[in-house]
Amino acid sequence: MNYKKITVDYTNLPEWVTFLRNDLNLKGIGVGLIHLKSGKGYRFLHKHKEQEEVYFILDGQGIIHIDGEDVAVSKGDIIKIDPEGKRALKAIEDSDLVALCIGGIPKEGYPQNPDSMSLIDDGIPDYDNPPHWYANDKDVINYLKNLKEKKHPKLKNKL
Ligand code: ZN
Repeated sequence: MNYKKITVDYTNLPEWVTFLRNDLNLKGIGVGLIHLKSGKGYRFLHKHKEQEEVYFILDGQGIIHIDGEDVAVSKGDIIKIDPEGKRALKAIEDSDLVALCIGGIPKEGYPQNPDSMSLIDDGIPDYDNPPHWYANDKDVINYLKNLKEKKHPKLKNKL
């Protein structure tokens, strides 16, 4: 089976950080769900050797202390921190902070194409077999045929 599915309650996460590496058998990315109770924060700063991190603030308000600066964050904010950035999170006094943190390690040779429009440009599209919900859609089939025939400028070097 080429997937793992879990379900969590974002409104009732365990306190501190829940790492999903084992639950999802992750190898190339790190994912953590963060729940800081109001007024609570990380007890130490940290940085990374190589890992880039992106924090998605899902609910509440807090601060992310980065290299001596307190950056205010609230629901909807997305903040990327370079490996060298020394950081720690804290919820403000009257609001819990709920966040998703995703980390990844750079791999030599990526991005392969700076114009790539994908997460990480190692995608291998299948233009011959559309998803079953478009299996009989002539427009989609034609669109995929055009992509396969390299009419899409961004794909000229990819196929
Ligand atoms: Zn980190």
